[in-house]
Amino acid sequence: MDTLPNLDAMLDTARSAVRAASALCMLVADSGPERLEKAGREPVTLADYGSQAVILGAVAAAFPDQGVLAEEGSAHLLAEGGAGSETVASLVAQVTGSPCGANDLADWIDHAGGGGQPVWAVDPLDGTKGFLRGDQFAVAVGLLDDGVPAAGVLGCPRLTIGDTTGVLLWGVPGRGAWMEPLAGGPATPISVSAVAEPASVRVLGSVEISHGDPAAIQRVVDLAGFGGGWVRIDSQAKYAAVGAGLAEVYLRPVSRPDWRERVWDHAAGAAIVIAAGGTVTDLDGRNLDFTTGPTLEHNRGVVATNGAIHELVLGSLADSEG
Ligand code: AMP
Ligand code: MG
Repeated sequence: MDTLPNLDAMLDTARSAVRAASALCMLVADSGPERLEKAGREPVTLADYGSQAVILGAVAAAFPDQGVLAEEGSAHLLAEGGAGSETVASLVAQVTGSPCGANDLADWIDHAGGGGQPVWAVDPLDGTKGFLRGDQFAVAVGLLDDGVPAAGVLGCPRLTIGDTTGVLLWGVPGRGAWMEPLAGGPATPISVSAVAEPASVRVLGSVEISHGDPAAIQRVVDLAGFGGGWVRIDSQAKYAAVGAGLAEVYLRPVSRPDWRERVWDHAAGAAIVIAAGGTVTDLDGRNLDFTTGPTLEHNRGVVATNGAIHELVLGSLADSEG
């Protein structure tokens, strides 16, 4: 697919921004992060805002006219008072090596892009609840070209692949997918696993019960005869694990019929799994449609697999729901 003329430059920007943003998140993690409640929404931390400032500051500098869909805005951080903003600005300066004033901070967090194509889909800290628990989280940047995932980058500071803990993954559908240590080191190709025997299939779902339906996953596991174990982990680290061949299925049933998935929770991860040779659809077997703004209006849940057992998952889902 690989049609964007600037794709290599965009990927370079995305990779270095995600690397810096992941470092910022770990600095906050090491300092004992505070949970800031947002009315009616998921919790946030100073790391969410700092990570978004790092990523969108880089996008604003290099590709100011391209579109942006990102999770956070500066208003809530600024309303919290000056101390939080000052901490975030100094963390951003530390990980980027460039000054970050109060105006820069708000401008970068709120950078909305020029509305053109492609669109940067940014979740600066996916899995905030996991981050706060000391479990998995991910820094996620997806590139959408007319609504199709053209590339994805994930920083997973607590994920272990092989003997590396703390990994940067990226993928370009049609070209391939790679990982390298966040701490620095050579890039190596990744691919989905070749497992097709149900008895060996490993399944991933969300930790948060309200983000899915663990009983629905259990029904699919039982119906399909998946015997490799089913494990709950936070964030798009689930897509990373499927893309790197650590599991065969990421299943995200809907918690309630009116829930629509957020673009930034799926763009990066879906690109990586597809690039690594896997298949990503919704629960009904439809491709994810990223053309409808910040939410996936035409899809229900997500199924990401190694491809080999995708139809078996969809069939088991249909049987369990019918
Ligand atoms: P996970 O770590 O896989 O549980 O996913 C974290 C993401 O779940 C967050 O970034 C939220 O955008 C998203 N989320 C919040 N509420 C819901 C919900 N009711 N159903 C599904 N996902 C949700
Ligand atoms: Mg998220």
